[in-house]
Amino acid sequence: MSDKVIICDFDGTITETDNIIAIMKEFAPPEWDALKNGVLSQEISIKEGVGKMFQLLPSSSKTQIVEFILQHAEIRPGFQDFVRYAKENNIPLYIVSGGIDFFVYPLLQGLVNEDQIYCNVANFSNEQIKIEWPNSCDEQCTNECGCCKPSLIRQLTNTNQKKIVIGDSITDLQAAKLADFVIARDLLLEKCKELQLPHQSFTTFFDVMDILDHLEEVSV
Ligand code: MG
Ligand code: ZN
Repeated sequence: MSDKVIICDFDGTITETDNIIAIMKEFAPPEWDALKNGVLSQEISIKEGVGKMFQLLPSSSKTQIVEFILQHAEIRPGFQDFVRYAKENNIPLYIVSGGIDFFVYPLLQGLVNEDQIYCNVANFSNEQIKIEWPNSCDEQCTNECGCCKPSLIRQLTNTNQKKIVIGDSITDLQAAKLADFVIARDLLLEKCKELQLPHQSFTTFFDVMDILDHLEEVSV
């Protein structure tokens, strides 16, 4: 079992819905919508889109945003058991998120250690929120990911490990392509089917544990 490593997305995977979208709907002026559409249609990079969306928000709204997220975000059922399961089975678990530290860390507090979490960082020292990118793309990626999941996989895993990617969206696709096995929902599930990547679908983290238990049988 210990030859596995798990790379798990945050927004829409660990949480039921996307927190950046929820924050923008609640706090941003209407301009955010065009930026979101630009990202989805790939006219602008995730890095540019997310950076510009947060620049629409004043730094003074930090506390309100965190309170809002803590009240509204829901952790998907079974996640706490899943973290324990990974630990008990000696499977390294990394949370790799395009989200921002100031809401990712509070939501995962008491569940996952911060040294297992890779995400973007918000700087509140200017008038508007400025996003910083400590996990930018390496020389092998030109997507301007912001938080580059393929780069992190290259950095955090070795070739002897079976890489399991858990995710929900198009932002997990490049990581999924590097995986030995994908556990997917929503748009990522559609993409896995389309590209015939080895995968299974999940709804809760109880499903995820069940899939991991049976992974040997599907020859990973
Ligand atoms: Mg996601
Ligand atoms: Zn990248």
